[in-house]
Amino acid sequence: MVEQQGRRLGIMGGTFDPIHYGHLVTAEAARDCFALDEVVFVPSGRPPHKSRSQPCSPEHRAMMTLLAIITNPHFSLSRIEVDREGYSYAIDTIRSFAEQYGPDTEIFFITGADAILEIAGWYQADELFQLASFIAATRPGFDLQGLNRLPEAWRQRIHSFDVPALAISSTDIRRRVAQGVSIRYLLPETVENYIIKEGLYVRQ
Ligand code: ATP
Ligand code: MG
Repeated sequence: MVEQQGRRLGIMGGTFDPIHYGHLVTAEAARDCFALDEVVFVPSGRPPHKSRSQPCSPEHRAMMTLLAIITNPHFSLSRIEVDREGYSYAIDTIRSFAEQYGPDTEIFFITGADAILEIAGWYQADELFQLASFIAATRPGFDLQGLNRLPEAWRQRIHSFDVPALAISSTDIRRRVAQGVSIRYLLPETVENYIIKEGLYVRQ
């Protein structure tokens, strides 16, 4: 691979069960606001943090992610966690991106602000904060007080920014499908059609 100089890479990890406009708006706003060259969407394999016993298969989630991002030239899909056996830890994913892109690429991990405190408790968080900066999407007026508990070195690696449309969630979309309520305009039409075609989320 030809190494590119001084690239800024965004990584948007998630279950994407299903992907929705909250994720897409956040990734695009982060790209714009932090001058990222590219945002890679990384659907999780078997999610260790989710309590729901049967989320959609990684294949379905990867396919919906691809359908959602395909028209944006700055977005791409990584199957790294989908193809990996067993649990995936963010640290392993970020390590592989760091190796693949080389030292001239700065890595930004994009997440909802609510998730940041959770991340601080993740496996090998120390190395995580060394390898990547974090872009935390907040609701306008969101209280970031909780971050004060984190070590200073980590806090310096967290950039927060306001994103509209944060009320959309995959949980709500799954519930709507199960109840026969419209999900139109909450996610791309291609993804909606895929959900209908494959009969996803009909039963919770
Ligand atoms: P679920 O309801 O199943 O938890 P979700 O909508 O939170 O799903 P995830 O796949 O869990 O979606 O989220 C992936 C990432 O996107 C996380 O960092 C999360 O904080 C962030 N995120 C989720 N929903 C939004 C949203 N509406 N706006 C901005 N970021 C979001
Ligand atoms: Mg979530």
